[in-house]
Amino acid sequence: MPAISSNKPYRVGRSKTGLGLFATKPIRKGTRIIRYFGPILDSRIPEQDDIENKYLFELNGRWTIDGSVRKNVARYINHSCRPNAESDVRPRERKVFIRAIRNIEAGDEINYDYGTDYFKAYLKPIGCKCPSCEKKRKKLRAEARVERAKVKARAERKAQKAAAKGAAKKKLNGKHFKGKVNGQARV
Ligand SMILES: [Zn+2]
Repeated sequence: MPAISSNKPYRVGRSKTGLGLFATKPIRKGTRIIRYFGPILDSRIPEQDDIENKYLFELNGRWTIDGSVRKNVARYINHSCRPNAESDVRPRERKVFIRAIRNIEAGDEINYDYGTDYFKAYLKPIGCKCPSCEKKRKKLRAEARVERAKVKARAERKAQKAAAKGAAKKKLNGKHFKGKVNGQARV
């Protein structure tokens, strides 16, 4: 069973969103890093089907791994939309392994994509905080800032132009009006 020990290429550490699993040595692409394990729940048994927590890993329509047990160190692995690992799901063996899909450097946080259902249920409502989404959000925020500045500058230019035009018109109107008044009233 996986446990935290020095010959494992990972350790639990502080991540931006709480705890996470970090590589302690380089992990080559394709390497099986850790097993995601826990009691197997049978959806046909109501008491088991009723169990609800964030660490459920569905193997198929019937079987689900309850990964909330303490010994399941893989539960510390955070979600990422651009992950460096993936879950290798083996419904027949009722096993899940987390495998590197890129070369991972020592110190890198290990993450995998939790999948659409989890994303919709837990991440979308609060906004995904994975590095990839944070980066995207940062970029969008910067772009929005630039856009706001542009809009503001445009509005200011327009207002200045309008003010200048208004001033010119007023002057013209004034003269014209004055002239007419002068012309009509006095003659
Ligand atoms: Zn994300």
